Amino acid sequence: MSRRSEILEEMGLAPLWRSRKMPAPPEDREALVLKMSWQELKRAVPACTACGLHATRTQTVLGVGDERADWLLVGEAPGAEEDRLGEPFVGQAGRLLDNMLAALALRRGENVYIANVLKCRPPGNRNPESAEVAACTPFLRRQIALIQPKLIVAMGRFAAQTLLETDATIASLRGRVHRYAGVPLVVTYHPAYLLRNLPDKAKAWSDLVFAQRAMRDLQAGRAVPI
Ligand code: URA
Repeated sequence: MSRRSEILEEMGLAPLWRSRKMPAPPEDREALVLKMSWQELKRAVPACTACGLHATRTQTVLGVGDERADWLLVGEAPGAEEDRLGEPFVGQAGRLLDNMLAALALRRGENVYIANVLKCRPPGNRNPESAEVAACTPFLRRQIALIQPKLIVAMGRFAAQTLLETDATIASLRGRVHRYAGVPLVVTYHPAYLLRNLPDKAKAWSDLVFAQRAMRDLQAGRAVPI
């Protein structure tokens, strides 16, 4: 089997290609992912075996919401509830996130898309490993290119450090507008962290107010300070 056929099998895309419903893809996995349509992503992610997490997952968690949303929220990885239900942020941290969105007059699915860096649950909710992040980020990159959000909110260390390709702390990244592939990006704490560190909820709230102000500027076509 050629490398291209192997990649297509691994991603669940072989039937589409054989039936000529997609053009001949490049042989490189990342290049292939970065050309996918939503339909192809929704097929490829559940079929993915690119890292060891496929062996322990119940199901993959691609993301949820408006596929042309202005707001894109990015977390770390599915937990137990997300792995069971196939939707990001549906556990306790998700309820906090929904409440924070409601305080901004936002709702998941309405001009908001929610995704994670990893599409599979690390066993026991351990931290993602760098090889897992490297294998999975092409999917997130492709989601961002398809959604074309006006603003990305990176929630927690893994999302911020992965998207900004930095080792900097959340504390040092907050309060500024960064860029990911040209898209404005702000950093805040992860909702699961806030459940354990209640005093930092006030800081997360000020991050969201900052993000909302940036979004108003972006929606009005005004430049945001970097
Ligand atoms: N934590 C995350 O980072 N993502 C989820 O989907 C759930 C919990």
